[in-house]
Amino acid sequence: MIPLAFDYEVAESVDHAIELLGQHGEEAKLLAGGHSLLPIMKLRLAAPAVLVDLGRLEDLKYVRDEGDHIAVGAMTRHSDVETDPILQEQCGLLAYTTSLVGDPQVRHRGTIGGSIAHGDAASDLPSALLALEGTFVVKGSGGERTVAAADFFEDYLQTALAPDEVLTEIRVPKLVQNAGWSYKKFNRRAQDWAVVGAAAVVERSNGSISSARIGLTNMGSTPVRATAAENALSGASADSVAEATSSADEGTSPASDIAASSEYRRHLARVLSRRAVEEALGR
Ligand code: FAD
Repeated sequence: MIPLAFDYEVAESVDHAIELLGQHGEEAKLLAGGHSLLPIMKLRLAAPAVLVDLGRLEDLKYVRDEGDHIAVGAMTRHSDVETDPILQEQCGLLAYTTSLVGDPQVRHRGTIGGSIAHGDAASDLPSALLALEGTFVVKGSGGERTVAAADFFEDYLQTALAPDEVLTEIRVPKLVQNAGWSYKKFNRRAQDWAVVGAAAVVERSNGSISSARIGLTNMGSTPVRATAAENALSGASADSVAEATSSADEGTSPASDIAASSEYRRHLARVLSRRAVEEALGR
């Protein structure tokens, strides 16, 4: 449980972090809350030679109303996302999902940026950000670019971030008036990781569902959208939710592990998607 020795650098700014990443190449890792990186270093599944600490970058800790969207700085801690009044009012799904991440200790150290950059399909926030159609701002030696959540998660713990890039901001569109939302997390004990989770954003018009977006947690090597169920829900009435969400596991490839078999995860994806859409419709 003791990591291999590493050097430690403090980033004074985002540009300084990028410079340090450029100097040390793939040997370096950014350190945010350390709640995913340090456990894997202790297990020696990662052995970076240099840690570049982003902890003092106060200018990456914010939640801002930007008109049509809300911008969240990458170093904003889960506890600040969970309790932020702008997010609670305009994008309740992100605030609520964050309140289900681990326990209070984890939420007081872990950051939204660390959770996204880590790219773990079992994490709660990536699937919520897929359902919200969020975008991520990343900066590297080649400049700044934005990446849609749908294009960001590439494979198991692999994202679109280049080795010298820093995730700086998460952008979420404000939820429109007629949109309801929900996140359903199934875990074995309170505060555990999700065996499976389902995040839903549902828009209604004239008594029927005009659009539904469902993000699934832990149903493959990346967070995924339940596109077959989304298509079935589009234009459907509230009475057809059970039938439409029966395809929520289509196209997914969940693992079997000590927590659940692949087949059981598929069952959970269908049940949780139905419950999430039903709750979103009633909200
Ligand atoms: P770190 O651990 O510091 O970094 C994680 C990775 O992201 C590293 O590779 C790092 O280099 C990279 N990184 C960090 N910041 C940036 C950046 N700005 N730009 C580019 N790369 C960056 N998560 C859940 O979703 N649900 C849970 O139920 C849950 N339970 C947990 C329970 C425990 C006991 C623990 C220890 C963690 C749990 N987590 C859970 C994970 C937690 O949410 C972590 O805080 C989060 O995944 C990582 O955030 P961090 O700030 O700690 O990142």
